[in-house]
Order: sequence, then structure tokens, then C-alpha cells
Amino acid sequence: MAGARKPKRRSKGRIRTIARRGLMLVLSSPSGAGKTTLSRMLLKSDPSVELSVSVTTRPRRANEKHGRDYRFIQKPQFEKMVEKGELLEWAEVFGNFYGTPRAPVERALAAGRDVLFDIDWQGTQQLREKARGEMASIFVLPPSIPELERRLRVRALDEEPVIKGRMAKAGDELSHWAEYDYVVINDDIGRAFEEVTQILAAERLKRERQTGLSAFVRGLQAKL
Ligand code: 5GP
Repeated sequence: MAGARKPKRRSKGRIRTIARRGLMLVLSSPSGAGKTTLSRMLLKSDPSVELSVSVTTRPRRANEKHGRDYRFIQKPQFEKMVEKGELLEWAEVFGNFYGTPRAPVERALAAGRDVLFDIDWQGTQQLREKARGEMASIFVLPPSIPELERRLRVRALDEEPVIKGRMAKAGDELSHWAEYDYVVINDDIGRAFEEVTQILAAERLKRERQTGLSAFVRGLQAKL
């Protein structure tokens, strides 16, 4: 799933950006810890990151847009996508099915763009098996349990039984924190966002991701 970005050139002919492979950035957290807000902030601030829009059988919330937040589909269609191998990973979460369509991710990575995934720990495990080298994963923790519950209620997007269900599931989701490369505690959204952007910046600089480095260094050596 590797791709390369073409180096940009400054007017004086100097290389500004080394060709690199796109990277898969995974954000997971218990519901209400803030990962959706962080995802939106990142997508807004960085044009080279695109969101992997999942398919789901869950009903659409009032503030969600089909095709932007999710593609909302029926269960038979979801099952067909699984059968045809069209999903990179999929999982059942809170009684609904969620999955990552394969084709857009492969297209983006091949073009050297980074792809952001807002998926749970089950999906992260599947992606890690398929694409470990391409992936960086971040787990977002809430600062406290009362704060997690408050955020679930304040957003007022779900019915009371759904909120209770999500709180009950939080312990299960929290237990997977140590499977992630990075952990960010979201006590302040501005600071958490800065930490996420720092992680992304460092991951992009990893030597093995900068596919254009050897050519660049050869160019330097040739001038010595
Ligand atoms: P929500 O219903 O609140 O949008 O999402 C519920 C959970 O499902 C969240 O933890 C979210 O990250 C996860 N999720 C969303 N899309 C996918 C997906 O495509 N695959 C997996 N494995 N989890 C997903």
C-alpha cells in the first residue's frame, strides 16, 4: 500500500520536500474522550490528511452528513462488502457494524497522502496485522470518568440508554490503551491537538517513510 509523493521544488531548483509514503494515522478512544473533535481539527488544519470515511449500519445522528462522517448503509449491503473483501477491517460496536472501505485508503496512500482513521481497538488490531509498517496509532484518554460522562451528555447526540451503554463499554475500550504507539490525555483540547500534530510530524519524518532520502543524499554526496 506504499505510495510516493513527488518532491516539490522551490523556484531556485532546491528540493523542499523529500518524497515519502503516505501513513495511516489511527485515533481510538472511549466514546466521549474527544477523538472525533481531534480528527475534525486535524482535517481542517492539514490538507495532506484525509479521513477514511467508514461505512456503518448505525442510524445517522442529526449533526452527521452521509459521505462526510460515515456512509450509512443497511446490514445486507454491509455483509456484501465483507463477502467481496471490500473492507480493510470491520467490527461490531454497540450492536452496529462499522467498516473501513479498502479502495479509498489504497488510492490515498498510493498518492502519498496520509489517511486518518477514527476506529475502535478491534479495527486497529486488524489494520496492524495488515499494515504495521504503514501505521501510527494514538489512543486518546479522558482526564477522568466523570468528565467522560459529562462530555457524552453535553453532546446530547444519543438517547439515555445509548449513553449508559457507552459508559458501560468505556472500561472495555480503556483496557486496550497499551496496544497503541502513543497515548494523549485530553484534558485540554488545544494541548491534545498540539500533541497529535507533533506525533504526526515526527511520524512523517521517520527515515523509512521518506522514500526520497537516498536519492537526496546521493545528490548531496555527488556535490562533495
Ligand atoms: P460512533 O457510533 O460513536 O460514531 O462510533 C462508535 C465506535 O466505532 C467508535 O469507537 C469509532 O471509533 C468506531 N468506529 C467508527 N468507524 C469504524 C470502523 O470503520 N471500524 C471500526 N473497527 N470501528 C469504527
